[in-house]
Amino acid sequence: MYFHEEDLPEGVLAPGPVAVDTETMGLVTPRDRLCLVQISDGGGDEHLVRFGPGSEYDAPNLCAVLADAARIKLFHFARFDLAAIQYYLGVEASPCYCTKIASKLVRTYTDRHGLKNLVDELLGQNISKAQQSSDWGGPVLSEAQRDYAASDVRYLHRLREELDRRLEREGRMDMAQACFDFLPTRARLDIAGWAEHDIFSHA
Ligand code: MN
Repeated sequence: MYFHEEDLPEGVLAPGPVAVDTETMGLVTPRDRLCLVQISDGGGDEHLVRFGPGSEYDAPNLCAVLADAARIKLFHFARFDLAAIQYYLGVEASPCYCTKIASKLVRTYTDRHGLKNLVDELLGQNISKAQQSSDWGGPVLSEAQRDYAASDVRYLHRLREELDRRLEREGRMDMAQACFDFLPTRARLDIAGWAEHDIFSHA
């Protein structure tokens, strides 16, 4: 696990898909600043990029990776992370893949689509979510916070492999891909004021 301030160093990631997660001060994107971006190429290293209070979010190396059209960005609940990345870093992190959406399309036998549930059922590993609701804005991130933050990107490549197998099996890969393709727009709707309103509903 590697810790960086305000940007990713250049050239630390192998080519190909990257797993990405964010930690913020809360769930309201324009109010709750982006504190941390975690990123991994799936090779066993996790990089944590921390943004301090008053950050100008000037992170050219990180933004180049996130905006790279040749790299698929793997998220769990991409909708939230895409909005935070768009709002604070000013880039659209597409193309993207969302393990929560894939799970909802294939694991129709359960309503448990949290990352912990997926990692447990599909990979047989246990991750702790104890630090999920902690203060990510402090001057020092605790060992427990760093471990938690890194674990949120550690399993996404392997989850995607297993979820893709099941999407193929159930004939839902096309539908999943169409959902992923819409996610940047869904995130823009959230930022623009349609977060609570489902524009596809009749009401
Ligand atoms: Mn997280």
